[in-house]
Amino acid sequence: MTGLCDSFQRPINYLRISVTDRCNLRCIYCMPAAGVCRMSHQDILTYEEIYTVAQAAAELGINKIRLTGGEPLVRLGLAKLVQMLKRIDTIDDISLTTNGILLSRYVAELKQAGLKRVNISLDTLKPERFRLITRSSYGLNDVLAAIDTARAAGLSPVKINMVVMAGINDDEIIDFANKSLSEEWHVRFIEFMPTAGLSNATLHFVSADDIRKSLEQLGELEPCLPGIGNGPARYFRFPDARGTVGFITPVSEHFCFRCNRLRLTADGKLRPCLLADDEVDLKQPLRSGISRDGLKKLIKTAVTQKPLQHQLADGYRLEGRPMTQVGG
Ligand code: SAM
Ligand code: SF4
Repeated sequence: MTGLCDSFQRPINYLRISVTDRCNLRCIYCMPAAGVCRMSHQDILTYEEIYTVAQAAAELGINKIRLTGGEPLVRLGLAKLVQMLKRIDTIDDISLTTNGILLSRYVAELKQAGLKRVNISLDTLKPERFRLITRSSYGLNDVLAAIDTARAAGLSPVKINMVVMAGINDDEIIDFANKSLSEEWHVRFIEFMPTAGLSNATLHFVSADDIRKSLEQLGELEPCLPGIGNGPARYFRFPDARGTVGFITPVSEHFCFRCNRLRLTADGKLRPCLLADDEVDLKQPLRSGISRDGLKKLIKTAVTQKPLQHQLADGYRLEGRPMTQVGG
C-alpha cells in the first residue's frame, strides 16, 4: 500500500508527466483549430527538474510513471529521461502515451532505457479520415507500423486508444474490435471529453453503452482482468480473441472513486485532477532551490487538493488549459 493518500482515502501511486505541450498532430478532439500558444523552452521543466520531482514523489509512494504530452516523442532525448527515471529504485513501471508517429524511430532506445509499455492513440484506419481527425497530411502508416514495432521490441502490452466521435469515426468501432479478434490489439474506446478550447465539443459524444451495443453483433463480451495497468478502463474479450477491448468512460460513468493519479504539466504545475483547473506550482520553487522536504510538502498539498470527482456529467466545462498542456 502506498504511503500517499488523498482526503478521500484514495491511495495515490501514479504520476503522469507531460514532457512537452508541443505536438506533430492537431487532433480535432484535443486541439483548437487555431492551435494553442506554445510554451517557451525556459517555461518547460528540464529533465533534471522532472527527475527531482519524480524522486520526491517516489519517496512519498509514487511507483508508476507515464510520460505523455503534447506528443512526448517530439521532445529530444526522451530515452535519456526514461533512463534517469529508471534509476529510481521504487519506480517499477514506466510507460508512454504517444500518437505513434515517431515511435518506430525511437522504440529500441526507449526499451533499452527501461520503458515497459506503451499506449498508442489511433482513431481511424482510413487514410483520408486520419488526415481529417489529425489535421495532418501524413502519418497513418507510421502509426500502424509503430504498433507492430513496439510489440516486436518487447513493449507489452501495446494498447490502442480510440476516441469515439459521432459522425466522425463511430462507424469504425467494429473494425477496431475486429482487430482484437484477429491480432493482439488491446483497443480502448474512450468517451470524448469536452475539454478546454473546443467549441463544438458536445456534438461528438458517444457513450460507452452505445459503443458496447454496437459491438454485440460480433459476439458476447466476456469481462477480463486488465493485465498490466493502473488505469480507469474496464476490459472485455470476445471468445477466442487474441486481444481485448476496453472502455474508458470519463463522462457517462466516472471512475473518480478509484483515481490514483497526479499530473505534472510540462511547465511544472502539479495537477491533482485532469478535469479540474487547480494546480500547485513546482517550477518556481524548484528554480529557487527548494529542499527535498519542501518539495514533498508541495506534492502532499496537491494530493490534499484532489477533488472527490469531476463535474463533466453536470455540464461543467474546463476553462483553463487545453489537453496538450495538461497531458491527457
Ligand atoms: N500525443 C499523445 C497521444 O495522442 O497519445 C499523448 C497526449 S494525448 C493528450 C493523450 C490521450 O488523450 C490520447 O489518447 C488522446 O486520444 C486523449 N485525448 C485527447 N483529447 C481528448 C478528449 N477531448 N477526449 C478524450 N480523450 C482525449
Ligand atoms: Fe497531439 Fe495527442 Fe493531442 Fe493528438 S491527442 S493533438 S497527438 S497531443
